[in-house]
Amino acid sequence: MEIAHCSVAELSRALGGREVSAVELARAHLDRIEAHRGLNAFLDVRPEVTLAQAAAADLRLASNGGADATPLTGVPIAHKDIFVTKDFCSTAASKILRGYRSPFDATVVDNLKQAGMVTLGKLNCDEFAMGSSNENSAFGNVLNPWDVGAVPGGSSGGSAAAVAACLAPVATATDTGGSIREPAAFTGITGTKPTYGRPSRWGMIAFASSLDTAGLMARSAEDTALVFNQMLGFDPKDSTSVNRPREDYTRLLNLDIKGLKIGVPTHFFGNLLQPDVEAAVREALAEYQRLGAILVDISLPNAELGIPVYYVVAPAEASSNLSRFDGVRYGHRAQEYGDVADMIKKSRSEGFGAEPKRRILVGTYVLSHGYYDAYYIKAQKVRRIIADEFTRAFSRCDVIAGPVTMSVAFAFGEKAADPVAMYMADYYTVPGSLAGVPSMSIPCGFGAGPVNGKRPVGLQLIANYFDEARMLGVAHAYQRATDWHLRRPAGY
Ligand code: GLN
Repeated sequence: MEIAHCSVAELSRALGGREVSAVELARAHLDRIEAHRGLNAFLDVRPEVTLAQAAAADLRLASNGGADATPLTGVPIAHKDIFVTKDFCSTAASKILRGYRSPFDATVVDNLKQAGMVTLGKLNCDEFAMGSSNENSAFGNVLNPWDVGAVPGGSSGGSAAAVAACLAPVATATDTGGSIREPAAFTGITGTKPTYGRPSRWGMIAFASSLDTAGLMARSAEDTALVFNQMLGFDPKDSTSVNRPREDYTRLLNLDIKGLKIGVPTHFFGNLLQPDVEAAVREALAEYQRLGAILVDISLPNAELGIPVYYVVAPAEASSNLSRFDGVRYGHRAQEYGDVADMIKKSRSEGFGAEPKRRILVGTYVLSHGYYDAYYIKAQKVRRIIADEFTRAFSRCDVIAGPVTMSVAFAFGEKAADPVAMYMADYYTVPGSLAGVPSMSIPCGFGAGPVNGKRPVGLQLIANYFDEARMLGVAHAYQRATDWHLRRPAGY
């Protein structure tokens, strides 16, 4: 078996047993990254940095009988280019940050580095994580390894493509309204967003601060749990980080799901849902029933207001967060300008792509005097109602399950000209983001794609606040019983 096809759990065992070295592993993945450059998943790769980290990991595994190593020492990982890194450029896939080098590592990156993980490079994404198809990157589209005519999803398209194509066994990603779950569904991998406030946002280039959540793209729930153990924890540098002790996310992997109550939001199965996706999701729910779980109908009556609420709250916060890119402190500065105001205007006009500009305009509008109460405050109130509906639902079930997306991965250009159609891609994921609950996508089959025929379908699991370990256990039960998560796109 090719080493790049191994799970994190297998790599961890092989490294611990000294059957493979971290340097060998790093080389094998760097070779694949080079061989599959056409996917455009990576924005910055520096083999000398990666190999130096791998050599240090090997030393740690060898010295003291490996006593100083963690289960992840020597395991490779790649980071979405939303996380700032000292050793690689950090651009948020925007021209305004082209070539930018951060003086520090994001906490998530640092935690994984401290654990001995080896960084393979930085991953392409939608500009400032704004998008659902990765067509908004200033550095080009990422291709979907299942079907190069299909988008990989966004905004974490590079993370998704890299893990699906086995260029990395696991990758960091971020989810503000669906950017982990939607691309994970479109590429047939396991994408997980923890509870808001559980991962640190320190060093994550800010888009919408009350929603931005770091998470993982992996090939299984088990791998996700192993990496979460090192990645998640309280961070005093982030004022929204929740001060809870670290926990073992593998502890419920062997959860007995007999009698587990799975809430099914019935209206998620309305006429927006494509029949091929619906069939795969319903079959996954039937599999859970065969495993002993009980399906209960639940309702999230205002979830359908998620998209309009999100597209007030997220642009409002984005317009504020993006004001720091002014050509003064860092990032792109226009070559020619008159006074300071002109310099700022030209630098921002040249540096930002169309989608960030659209959001700055919308965000500024909804926050402006006279519109603030009508839009922003109203949206915050509805957000609270949606969050309360989740809390009520969890009094009747242990987890919620349903579709991640309405359709399988769509074609390049299909929605790019119609922002609202693109925004609707997150219809099923945005409500969980507004509530801040943990949620994930696991592969559960294939649908018909218009180009080459078969594109992956995801099943969404949503859990109550801080109940990630149970959610991962529920996912693992499915992955023990089925093999969708082991399918790989042809040629990878
Ligand atoms: N597609 C959504 C947006 O463009 C969500 C993006 C995200 O989760 N980062 O805002």
